[in-house]
Amino acid sequence: MTKKLVLIVVDGLTPAALERAVESGRAPALALLAGHGSYRRATSVFPSLTPVCLSSIVTGAGPDVHRIPHLVWWHRDERRIVEYGSSFAALRAAGMAQAITDTIFNMNQKHLGAGAVTVYEALEDEGLVAAAVNITCYRGRTRHQPVLPWVTKPAYGPRRFFYYSLFESDPTGAPFAVRNRAGGSIDVYASAVGRWLVTRDGFDFFAYYLSDFDFASHAHGPLGAEDVALVRTDAAIQALLDAAGGADAFLERYAVILHSDHGQTPVEHATHLESSLTAHADHVVVTASNRAGQVYLLPGARVDAEILARSFDGDETVEVTLRLEHDEAVARRDGEELRFRPDASGGTAGWATSGDAAILDHPDALHRAWSALANPNAGELLVSAAPGWEFADLGGRHHAGGGSHGSLVEGDSVVPVLSVGVDADVRRITDVMPAVLEHFGVAAPAYVAARERVA
Ligand SMILES: [Zn+2]
Repeated sequence: MTKKLVLIVVDGLTPAALERAVESGRAPALALLAGHGSYRRATSVFPSLTPVCLSSIVTGAGPDVHRIPHLVWWHRDERRIVEYGSSFAALRAAGMAQAITDTIFNMNQKHLGAGAVTVYEALEDEGLVAAAVNITCYRGRTRHQPVLPWVTKPAYGPRRFFYYSLFESDPTGAPFAVRNRAGGSIDVYASAVGRWLVTRDGFDFFAYYLSDFDFASHAHGPLGAEDVALVRTDAAIQALLDAAGGADAFLERYAVILHSDHGQTPVEHATHLESSLTAHADHVVVTASNRAGQVYLLPGARVDAEILARSFDGDETVEVTLRLEHDEAVARRDGEELRFRPDASGGTAGWATSGDAAILDHPDALHRAWSALANPNAGELLVSAAPGWEFADLGGRHHAGGGSHGSLVEGDSVVPVLSVGVDADVRRITDVMPAVLEHFGVAAPAYVAARERVA
């Protein structure tokens, strides 16, 4: 009989943090899962930022299909900035009411590509019950009315849907989610909901999203987060095991995939990406946050993406820029260029390239770069920050002295994957959703099969 499946996403958990946690004995729940399952590392998408990553995990598609380009981006049709919550100051700078609507509602109802299928939609269309707590990519077919009286707009999520005390498909008695973010109250809320769901065995598939580790890693750096937050993350996982009556009973009933959406790397310096483009300020919109940025050409701009790319030559804050030229992608680094496009043969080698391959020596870089550039909501120029650097957000905030992510570099891009009781060959975070569907015998969307031809 097919076991039910719990997908645990620990935001910002690096492979090194998971490996050390398991070896040190400080994280008994993680160690228990590791002891019963198989472990590997996988790659994230570009930019390695949570809205892009969670959309990729939930849809099994890259940004080319799911169309979420960044934490902050320029909406060409509506001629405005979309901001999904880089920081409180960034929300305020983008216009608080609009930014909150974009983050909570529009990302799922309007921005997430119509051609993408979420894991909840795919499973529930086959009669299974999906549950989700706090995961910000939640699109499903069940209408949920908010539980807070001053919000009136409904959201469409899976049947069992819990979102930061704002949407709750069932009364669970979980404490208010956002009362003490730095103290871990978001994951305390998630674990109370998780305990309720597991106690009732109230789902076939459950997406359990824990975000407090990433929050701590931004503040304290990826190493510091291991001291501050990992024990709490582990306790949130232990809560599920306990709710089932112990680890054996839990694993008897559920298969598990545990992974993160992206890594983090230490950042020492912050810059304003637009300060490198002041000569072209009238022709572009710059959106930047964490360790990735995008530059959009305004209609009638008298510059092109190549000119913009050249303005970053010798800029210590930028490692690589990416752009499209006709049917080719162009990566530029230190004034040198690599051109690439999917191989016409469709073979597994995948790519026709010219130039020095070392320009994109990052994990799975050609695939990730191509998918990011093929997103119609992406800027004409994509920017990946140099190690140690971060781009200040719309509100001027950054995490210098702590940690960040978003770039192509390995530390931002490689994630740990643990699977228990499920045959999940997860090499990329976009492999998770197809593995879940396969576990339940549900067919994957056509874009999953298409992707394999360009491996
Ligand atoms: Zn983050």
